[in-house]
Amino acid sequence: MTEKLSPMKLPCGGTAFFDTDSGISYRCWDCMAVVGSMGQPQSCKDEMQKWENWTKLGGKDWDYFAETEEI
Ligand SMILES: [Zn+2]
Repeated sequence: MTEKLSPMKLPCGGTAFFDTDSGISYRCWDCMAVVGSMGQPQSCKDEMQKWENWTKLGGKDWDYFAETEEI
């Protein structure tokens, strides 16, 4: 696999980088927690949940790989 793993932008405002230790997950650089894990702060999860609910209602998906300086 040569696919480049770019950092993810999280709804909580943090940036998640691919965790090369586990090889399967992303780690939020703001909370230092693995995204989707038990260690992820509730506030962080809430933001992601909000977007999940929004998407289920037909809203626009959160773009985890959006360019930070996109205009
Ligand atoms: Zn976070």
